[in-house]
Amino acid sequence: MHELSLAAEMVEQLAAVAAREKALRIVRIELLIGRYSGIERDAFEFAFPIAAAGGPLEGAELVVEVPPVTVECRACGTTTHPPAILLRCHTCGSPRVELKGGREFMVRSVELETP
Ligand SMILES: [Zn+2]
Repeated sequence: MHELSLAAEMVEQLAAVAAREKALRIVRIELLIGRYSGIERDAFEFAFPIAAAGGPLEGAELVVEVPPVTVECRACGTTTHPPAILLRCHTCGSPRVELKGGREFMVRSVELETP
């Protein structure tokens, strides 16, 4: 389960942020996990409290958002959000598309508790 190592990495980086900001702890984290990021949302949500235990992120609320899959069509040029299973242009149906959104794995915001 590589989600556990990703969660541990995120926890480590955010703990460093908390230390730099002299925060008591991290209260809430908003995270983007794209459908094509290769990361299982459920597995990540399971791994997070394990990775966070004993540090400034323990007990933090993890809010995961799955952004829409976005493709740019090389045939007709439009940008659409196809259903995730079928990676085709939603306007003309062409499979000649470039994935523009859906691979995200990033922290969007962090809420700190300061003394
Ligand atoms: Zn198209």
